[in-house]
Amino acid sequence: MTSSFLPGYLDRKENLADLPKVTDVAIIGGGLLGTALAYYLSKFGIEVTLLERSDLNREASGTNAGSFHFQIALHQLTKNLTESEEKRLSDEVKLQLDAAILWDTLEKELDADLGVHFTGGFMVAETEEELKVLRDKQSIENKAGLETHVLTGDEMRSFAPYLAPDLSGIAYCPREGHANPLLVGPTYAFRAMELGAKIRTNCEVLKIEPLDNASPYRFKLKTSRGDISCNRLVNAGGAWTAELSAQLGIKHPMGLSGLHVNVTEPHEFFLKSMVQHIGRRLTLKQTPNNTFIIGGGWPSRTENYPRRYSNYWASAAGNVAVAVRVLPILKDVRLLRVWSGVWAYTKDFKPILGESEKVPGYHVAMVPTGFTLGPMVARTLAEYMHSPANKNIIPKEFSVDR
Ligand SMILES: Cc1cc2nc3c(=O)[nH]c(=O)nc-3n(C[C@H](O)[C@H](O)[C@H](O)COP(=O)(O)OP(=O)(O)OC[C@H]3O[C@@H](n4cnc5c(N)ncnc54)[C@H](O)[C@@H]3O)c2cc1C
Repeated sequence: MTSSFLPGYLDRKENLADLPKVTDVAIIGGGLLGTALAYYLSKFGIEVTLLERSDLNREASGTNAGSFHFQIALHQLTKNLTESEEKRLSDEVKLQLDAAILWDTLEKELDADLGVHFTGGFMVAETEEELKVLRDKQSIENKAGLETHVLTGDEMRSFAPYLAPDLSGIAYCPREGHANPLLVGPTYAFRAMELGAKIRTNCEVLKIEPLDNASPYRFKLKTSRGDISCNRLVNAGGAWTAELSAQLGIKHPMGLSGLHVNVTEPHEFFLKSMVQHIGRRLTLKQTPNNTFIIGGGWPSRTENYPRRYSNYWASAAGNVAVAVRVLPILKDVRLLRVWSGVWAYTKDFKPILGESEKVPGYHVAMVPTGFTLGPMVARTLAEYMHSPANKNIIPKEFSVDR
């Protein structure tokens, strides 16, 4: 990717300028979903004001591990692979494929280096039972159009000689990879501003008030920087999505978890592909600056906003133990630091996306694997908001009112 664009970028003066009194679309939340949506709506020529209570990209979108999860992962699996579960997984793989296609061209679209690399991804199995899961999931993935291969024995050992030689098998997905989460959201915001979007940081939405039919606007937002009225409102509040929707009497099937990530000292580069585990919590990759990022869903301590989530040593130790089991060379690499962020998920792992039928004009953009799927989900919502008559753009099972 070549570009002279360096995101040194967001004009703080403009972000702190007075809040407009009215806007067509107000977006709550300046994470990846909010900023990507601001960009895609602005591209359609729709007037947008994005309101972020802190700075852009400070929560999940700036604290995640930056992995593209295109093959089926541990968190998507249930105990029994029934026919309906197979159908669900197949639908999810198709969504993941759509996201892969978007990521293919995103640096070109935004004319920026986002650190996108398609380096392939391994999913490892330690037991025969886990190997069977790899084979079952490969069959679903291949039928849905995603290329994955299962390797065992000497074939596995020669393909990935650095992985523990006694693993029962690995699945390899050539499309997987990663991007730099510190760049993607802010770059979307920058490009949205160029197209006319207004971004306001340090602007907390305190109250959502639906307006009656006599008003030309549908909602008034009371914020820490004054009031703003809008025709259409989008809640892209990440872990705070449910809290915001509750003000309008809408409940979401959501949960929250603090997640923990470890970073090691640099080591001579050898690990081109991301590594995950089909039976234990692990994602592992070597970054362009040669450090290893080790995560995969180990919990950190829940705190109420504005406190940051803090770490459990048990998570650091547990996560690193799985990493060393799978990639033995890590036993000689020192852990340098850990961080955590807050992750929001839906109980059915589907996005919450679209316009509420109960509260017309009110939209939600939320998705659990939000770094991988966020840009695609935001673009889909922008397409719907551009042509609301076309209800089929968003699958029914993503309904905001479910
Ligand atoms: C440690 C960790 C690792 C992860 N790793 C991966 C990964 O490798 N791959 C992957 O695909 N996904 C990963 N995820 C998930 C992914 O990061 C999230 O799904 C995604 O970033 C969600 O983006 P978002 O914009 O919805 O939420 P956020 O980035 O949390 O943004 C929501 C924003 O809304 C703002 N807000 C909330 N309430 C208000 C209010 N009242 N007024 C104004 N603003 C408000 C918040 O300040 C915040 O900035 C990970 C998550 C974590 C925490």
